[in-house]
Amino acid sequence: MMNKAHEMDATASQDDANSAGLRIVRVEAIPVALPLKKAVVMAGERIEQSYNLLVRIETANGLAGWGEASSAPYMTGDILPGMVAAVNSYLAPLLLGQNAMRRAELSQRCAKLIVGNTGAKCAVDMALVDVVARALGISAADLLGGAVRETLVPMYLLGNPRIEDDIEEAEHQLALGWRFFKLKIGIKPPLEEAMAAIEVRRCLGDDIALCADANTGMKFMDVLTFAARAREANLLFIEQPLLADDFDGMAALARACPIPLNGDESIGSIADIVMLNRMGAIRGANIKTIKMGGMGPAAQAMTVCAALGLSINLACKVAESSIAAAAVTQLGCIAPNLDWGLNVTNHYLAEDVSDSPLPVEHGSLHRPRGPGLGVVVSEARVNRFRIK
Ligand SMILES: [Mg+2]
Repeated sequence: MMNKAHEMDATASQDDANSAGLRIVRVEAIPVALPLKKAVVMAGERIEQSYNLLVRIETANGLAGWGEASSAPYMTGDILPGMVAAVNSYLAPLLLGQNAMRRAELSQRCAKLIVGNTGAKCAVDMALVDVVARALGISAADLLGGAVRETLVPMYLLGNPRIEDDIEEAEHQLALGWRFFKLKIGIKPPLEEAMAAIEVRRCLGDDIALCADANTGMKFMDVLTFAARAREANLLFIEQPLLADDFDGMAALARACPIPLNGDESIGSIADIVMLNRMGAIRGANIKTIKMGGMGPAAQAMTVCAALGLSINLACKVAESSIAAAAVTQLGCIAPNLDWGLNVTNHYLAEDVSDSPLPVEHGSLHRPRGPGLGVVVSEARVNRFRIK
């Protein structure tokens, strides 16, 4: 009895020590503009610079965690000044003085505090995961349930205005070892895009995974025209052909289209995944931390997908730095399945916020070494790209 009481005292004082050390003393919302190597064109959007929110959370013991979310006016509706304001006016006041070790509860309270703003919530949740995992000396993957794989096969995004450039780029990246490609469609007439898909398939050979993403840019009949003609391109899936709120259209299309459909812009929550699945509208889900509101919620969404028998595609928005790339890689390591691939997008950036950006090595991504997200952020770089 005495011993038990003694143990409890020891535990309580340990909790107090942790709580004091991991008390959140600073939450910074840092808007940055990151230059891309070259513009990425997709239906309805052309990206030359990425406007992202970085969040830095510092605890009393001097540790810092970093989180990131790209603005996404055409996906989550989040624009950068709003993301900064959401952190400064709502999320930071909730977090300051709290014990970061209670990150799951804090993240849940942030989720409930304001509607939407999943980008701001994402950057905060990611920074909390990073700082807590660092404090424990473990990786984010271990904090969130444990890795089931250490090596991932990321996909390369082809989004040039001209098919010749897509082919040339595909050949080049194939030679560098990339083994999974995604073609941006929904821009040109459907037959032209089907021919382009077939040409890209010829260039890649039969053993390389190829999928297509329309970013809501197609009409119902255009998808069927495209899918019928592109059959020999052997596409793994077509992502989000129709408008985000057209669940009925996606369900009808799924019944008529020979190529499986993936949901992206339609999915802003776990409830959307459940509904789309119930309607038979999707065979897989594109899960982004910016849509789900962080790493914790993204991990939950993956569990739901696995339970529903849906394929999983994990993705960063074009373009996020090594912070979000590392976060998605950590999530990829714990994903129950990852049969529809993973996109990181830091390699589209001309400059990163880390001196050692997360590398794709011969078409593979490895779980970053080191605690937390496993990426070391350079404050000098952050300041260089900070929007004043
Ligand atoms: Mg997409």
